Amino acid sequence: MEKPRVRFAPSPTGALHIGGVRTALYNYLLAKRFNGTFILRIEDTDQTRYVPGAEKYIIDSLEWLGLSIDEGPGQGGEYGPYRQSERKALYGKYAQQLIDNGHAYYAFDTPDELDKRREEEKEKGKHSFKYDAGMRMSMRNSLSLPAAEVEQLLSSEAPYAIRLKIPTDEVVLINDIVRGEVRFQSNELDDKIILKGDGMPTYHLANIVDDHLMKISHVIRGEEWLPSTAHHILLYRALGWEETMPVFAHLPLILKPNGKGKLSKRDGDKLGIPVFPLSWEGATEEESFKGFREFGFLPQAALNFLAFLGWNPGTEQEMFSLTELCEAFSLEKIGKAGARFDIDKAKWFNQQYIIAQNNATLAEMVRPMIAAKGFSPNTAFLQTFCGMMKERVTLLPDFWTAGYYFFSNELEYDAKTVRKKWKPENKAFFAEIKQLLASLDPFEAANIKTTIVGHMEANELGFGDVLPIVRVAVSGTVKGPDIFEIMELLGREEIQVRLAKGFATFDEMKAPSA
Ligand code: GLU
Repeated sequence: MEKPRVRFAPSPTGALHIGGVRTALYNYLLAKRFNGTFILRIEDTDQTRYVPGAEKYIIDSLEWLGLSIDEGPGQGGEYGPYRQSERKALYGKYAQQLIDNGHAYYAFDTPDELDKRREEEKEKGKHSFKYDAGMRMSMRNSLSLPAAEVEQLLSSEAPYAIRLKIPTDEVVLINDIVRGEVRFQSNELDDKIILKGDGMPTYHLANIVDDHLMKISHVIRGEEWLPSTAHHILLYRALGWEETMPVFAHLPLILKPNGKGKLSKRDGDKLGIPVFPLSWEGATEEESFKGFREFGFLPQAALNFLAFLGWNPGTEQEMFSLTELCEAFSLEKIGKAGARFDIDKAKWFNQQYIIAQNNATLAEMVRPMIAAKGFSPNTAFLQTFCGMMKERVTLLPDFWTAGYYFFSNELEYDAKTVRKKWKPENKAFFAEIKQLLASLDPFEAANIKTTIVGHMEANELGFGDVLPIVRVAVSGTVKGPDIFEIMELLGREEIQVRLAKGFATFDEMKAPSA
């Protein structure tokens, strides 16, 4: 394949939904697969929907995922500027060209007139008003009005929009890489506005002009844009650019976890799952949400998960680094069917990536979280902690929730175990254990174990009588990594404190029912 030039073309209207991120990823993968160029183009022609901060959010999201941009607002490039609002002057001449060659016309209908007409049509039982071939001659435009009136309107600077004149009785054929041949009947299409009264192009015109000028080879975007593609093909044709028209690939929908309908922000709120890459800075409380990053997903896991939302390598392999994805990716392996958003799969990926990290890297990821809780362990401690816990966590915050006792000795004791296992008659035995450990040197897992097990056997007690109690005294819970290793890491002094406090508390806990 020739080096592809692909673009991710978001509109800065808010946070980037996970579907948008997947679009960015697939574009990036195709570009990198064939040594091409990944372009970020900001489609901000609709000033009414512009949200400050959205562009930065998009860029931050791509950066977090490691999807580096080759050309874009920040990077520059030969085909810039890459913000459509900064290209405004460019589009008018193409709209004019379309008027001149009869593929577009001036429409003078005011918003009020359009509303009125919509109402009238509704009264006649026609609920979907379309400004189309059937309707245009009864509207106020340069096709329906006498030439002199059109001249007069234009010279009096009456407001107008420019509309694309859709040809009648044509079949528009889209050869989509994902969906195959898709046909649209031109009579079904409306005469879309391509240039608005304020001189700004609409999405349709700007998108086509820029794809052409930026020499885009492949348009990879969500399925919701498929119907617009018919208009786009007609625009390419009308502008005489059919020969260099990009190839289209429309990505399948991302479905709710239960497979019923499209995944929405509401699903994220309702189910407590991330549907955005990052949280949105400056959002009101109502708008705020947590993204993959805040949930504690590693970017590698989020990427791997996203890659599989609609694409499949055709082999058993599931774990793919970004580099491996770039090597394995192909548009032909994208499926048509909607892809179910299975958050458990995302968590599974995350778990695998956490396990695969080395302890030093993990320690630095976990450090801010531990610091936020008020603890500042040394690096060696933190690394050992990460090594001991990494097989037991799924998301980064689990390091704290499942392993807080490595830092804090304000423990929440597992009452059930205490009730079942703490026997006042063994009190003396546990006091002896504490005593033996007080002078143990070196204080290491192997001899801590020998000491405890030796004393246990000498007193004819079983593992079940002793270890759960020691564990709960040290960590509050019976779950966790090897208890002797935990004890070594916490150190002799701390263990003395914990055993003393634990055994005393167990006695109290047991007291009411004793
Ligand atoms: N600006 C459109 C969007 O927000 C771009 C669609 C396309 O890729 O053509 O998704």
